[in-house]
Amino acid sequence: MVQRFDVAVRFADGAQYLDGKPARGTSGRTQVITDPATGEQVHSYALASTADVDDAVAAASRALPGWAGATPAERSDALHRLAGVLAERAGEFAYAESLQCGKPVRLTTEFDVPGSVDNTAFFAGAARHLSGTAAAEYSGDHTSAVRREPVGVVGSIAPWNYPLQMAAWKVLPAVAAGNTIVLKPAETTPLTSLMFAAAATEAGLPDGVVNIVCGTGPDAGEHLVGHPDVAMTSFTGSTGVGRRVAEIATRTVKRLHLELGGKAPFVVFDDADLEAAVHGAVAGSLINTGQDCTAATRAYVQRPLYEAFVEGVADLMAAVRLGDPFDPGTDLGPLISHAHRDRVAGFVERARSYATVVTGGGPPDFADGDRSARGAFYLPTLVTGAPQDSEIVQHEVFGPVLTVLPFDSDDEGLALANDTPYGLAASAWSRDVYRAARAGRELRAGCVWINDHIPIISEMPHGGFGASGHGKDMSAYSFEEYTQIKHVMQDNTAVARKDWHRTVFGIR
Ligand code: NAD
Repeated sequence: MVQRFDVAVRFADGAQYLDGKPARGTSGRTQVITDPATGEQVHSYALASTADVDDAVAAASRALPGWAGATPAERSDALHRLAGVLAERAGEFAYAESLQCGKPVRLTTEFDVPGSVDNTAFFAGAARHLSGTAAAEYSGDHTSAVRREPVGVVGSIAPWNYPLQMAAWKVLPAVAAGNTIVLKPAETTPLTSLMFAAAATEAGLPDGVVNIVCGTGPDAGEHLVGHPDVAMTSFTGSTGVGRRVAEIATRTVKRLHLELGGKAPFVVFDDADLEAAVHGAVAGSLINTGQDCTAATRAYVQRPLYEAFVEGVADLMAAVRLGDPFDPGTDLGPLISHAHRDRVAGFVERARSYATVVTGGGPPDFADGDRSARGAFYLPTLVTGAPQDSEIVQHEVFGPVLTVLPFDSDDEGLALANDTPYGLAASAWSRDVYRAARAGRELRAGCVWINDHIPIISEMPHGGFGASGHGKDMSAYSFEEYTQIKHVMQDNTAVARKDWHRTVFGIR
């Protein structure tokens, strides 16, 4: 159940969160938050300046020694309390997330919010289980131990497609491992990140451990990435911006974690359960209106099933209900903005010259007077016959658009699936255990699903290969990004003249 509240009242003290308190941005520029389902203004706020970023980094730096020095149990307790606060406020989080993104309430109440609560509970436990090599006398004369230490102040940048989950994915492993953080959400969707930080304070995380700056990418974002007191950049967003972020981060030799774009293939072998594949393709391509980095975007279907698959997907797509995200009967919300809808429509319009648009391919017809008519809605769209090297098959559309191509041999299907620069996620559909196992081995992606597409779980890593970036979110693997390994080697002999000194000044 969503719980409505007055956004202007809730964020009256500003849309920045610095040192445990809300604050106003000082850039002198204003950002409007728009409900993409109606085009109406939700709120407007003062954007962060680079000086606000400096303040946030200073607060995180002050909080670092105390938080890094807290015991794992203390950090774990605080995160358990945070999971409790998030669960108590679940209805408000779902409301704000649906409002700023146009997500149907079924998605926010059943996926975004519970997923974030579960992630928090997971990291509360994981905070006490940092793993490493056992301490031992590897040289014979010394005890070697590995320490997993926090990296320092983390600067994170997140996209607009899952603002709450992205805040959770960025903040939780960082603070569980003893770092402090400055997070810059997408400036168009800051509400739930700010609420997440306020919940952290309410749960007892010390001031300055979690800071939020809401500013634009080129100023607040780049300033955060280049900041000399920030030890690590964790970026989730498009591959193009990721390249720019990498260039800036490299200048200050920062640790870098990049979760970038995707173009997930969906490979259907001829022994697959057709009904499961059809339902999986529609759900997997339309999740969050296709604005999901792991969404199924390219279906490859072995020739005997091809026609039935296209027909099944087209029928199911046509039955999807678009409309008011707050109506529990709505399946699909709008795209994030009218500008993004134009971008998605551009891909489909250009494809008409070389492919067939089987269903969709435009905005829906809403009744006169329906507020949704002013929203950024776009119909579920199925495209066939687009060549493998065409724009719509190779580039990230980030909308409710699925292309389908036939293949003959298993070799061909897997080769087509691997034929983009991306490598975030992939799925294969088969009832043959050997085919499924081969797909699990050979599909080049950070996650391969067999007979499903989309589910994620807190215990397992999420992250890409190739142009989809490097490093992992979620799971204990994320601690590889958010901790640095120190080897402490302690002499046990108490001998002043050690044997190895011979290599430097000979035998005395
Ligand atoms: P984007 O790259 O445009 O923006 C992402 C963030 O970067 C925003 O906060 C933005 O303000 C900021 N930014 C923009 N320019 C910047 C700059 N020059 N320096 C620093 N920061 C800058 O991406 P988007 O449109 O918000 O999100 C969609 C993209 O995110 C898609 O490509 C999608 O695949 C990707 N994504 C990836 C994952 C993943 O886990 N791999 C998850 C979600 C989204």
